[in-house]
Amino acid sequence: MFEADAAGSLLIGGRPAADLVEEAGGTPLFAYDRSVVETKIARLRAALPAEVQLHYAIKANPFAPLLSHIAARVDGLDVASGGELAMALETGTDPGDISFAGPGKGDDELDAAIAAGVTLNLESEGEMERALGIAAERGRQVRAAVRINPPFDLKGSGMKMGGGAKPFGVDAERVPAMARRLVAAGADFRGYHVFAGSQNLRAEAITEAQAAGISLIAELVRETGVDAPEANIGGGFGLPYFPGETPLDLDRVGADLGRLLEGRGKELAGTRFTVELGRYIAGECGVYLTRVIDRKSSDGQVFLITDGGLHHQLAASGNFGTVIRRNYPLAKASAFAAPAEETVNVVGRLCTPLDKLGEKVELPRAEPGDLIAVFMAGAYGRTASPEAFLGHPPAREIFV
Ligand SMILES: *Cc1c(COP(=O)(O)O)cnc(C)c1O
Repeated sequence: MFEADAAGSLLIGGRPAADLVEEAGGTPLFAYDRSVVETKIARLRAALPAEVQLHYAIKANPFAPLLSHIAARVDGLDVASGGELAMALETGTDPGDISFAGPGKGDDELDAAIAAGVTLNLESEGEMERALGIAAERGRQVRAAVRINPPFDLKGSGMKMGGGAKPFGVDAERVPAMARRLVAAGADFRGYHVFAGSQNLRAEAITEAQAAGISLIAELVRETGVDAPEANIGGGFGLPYFPGETPLDLDRVGADLGRLLEGRGKELAGTRFTVELGRYIAGECGVYLTRVIDRKSSDGQVFLITDGGLHHQLAASGNFGTVIRRNYPLAKASAFAAPAEETVNVVGRLCTPLDKLGEKVELPRAEPGDLIAVFMAGAYGRTASPEAFLGHPPAREIFV
């Protein structure tokens, strides 16, 4: 996705990494390349059936310039807090195209969602009753779907979100009573939300989960006799973060979903289907740029100490939902794609052995002052990292 100029400098958004650092005022810096995001969305549009709505899950990356760029190119936004709700509304997205999931919505958040008219993906009976109560007090209608805790999970996912006891959603057998209650209470019942897992690279596993989600929703419509105008069937499309991983066969996922929707029963004929993605849209556009502060050796190994670390980019250190630590792709920004000259350890500046950005990576020789680029930093980077840990300044961000 990234290339070098004639001098060997890494280009992000068509500009050398060092220029971006200068413009942003220094390192560490998250630089996001708009053309990469546009390419990803275009590929999704080409692969997915035309009738499927594409939503962006803001928690992957809420940086305002990036978010508004994405918001203008997808069909809706999924939020998981009152803070994200405010950011989503700020983009000018139609509230009817925003959905709000999350297992612990406070009364203030329910109130804000009802006032704005976004779709609440209800996660429990208790939350439903609180929402109905708040709406009645306000003299407003609740716009709501029910999030189902599916009796299956997305096989081989980096993060499982369904199957068995879970804090997310409502066990399938209790969902019909909620749908009936919402309709009886005069809510604008929107349908269902199923999210079975995340970070999956296997097309057949994603198709299997989508098929199970669609048939579960069809069954609920038959059982309740209540139509589902909307069905959010989750996402889980993964990215190949590590060498040797095979990218997801997106065309196959899209073709399979097309067949599933063609073959759906008449109870879902009028249902609009949505896929919600975070990392698949934003993950690859981001590069985390840090500067080498010190170069030292210990017990025969070279350590490049950078001015960044896990307080900005926890995922690259292997401490964000990873079982075995592996290196994210790394490069010396001024000699991108140049042949490796040595094996080094690239670490952050925090006083903890957890703060590794690259263990035994092959790089061209780098000295203090050189920029190191850590790729795959567009999703779950800055906002998913313990920024206050050790009191270093936050990373800068730039959208080009
Ligand atoms: C986190 C989350 C997503 C986005 O997951 P990605 O792996 O980034 O695509 C989508 N939907 C829900 C409900 C989520 O919690």
